[in-house]
Amino acid sequence: MKPYKNKINRIRTFALSLIFIGIVIMYIGIYFREQPLIMVTFMLLGVVAIIGSTGVYAWIGLLSMKTVPVECPNCGRHTKMLGRVDMCMHCREPLTMDPSLEGKEFDVQYNKKNSNV
Ligand SMILES: [Zn+2]
Repeated sequence: MKPYKNKINRIRTFALSLIFIGIVIMYIGIYFREQPLIMVTFMLLGVVAIIGSTGVYAWIGLLSMKTVPVECPNCGRHTKMLGRVDMCMHCREPLTMDPSLEGKEFDVQYNKKNSNV
């Protein structure tokens, strides 16, 4: 299996796990019903995590506008890519926007601005 994931999918997974973390934190808070201060602290942390995930979802929305829809040469399905190099959402085929990088080994470093490629 290739080690990298499509960026959009990775951020989406992160946002989803934040929601679950928030719910779990609030759930833990219920066990501290006798100590309202601790319960309220857990509840607030949970709310913060969920608000954070909403923010991440909004960020995905913004990023999605910058993605380039391409047809994957490997599996033929449509995918979105972000930055100079990214992976296919379906088969994890490395894709590049930069012709000079074509055929080279996939490297996430190519997305960094000051990479001397
Ligand atoms: Zn593909």
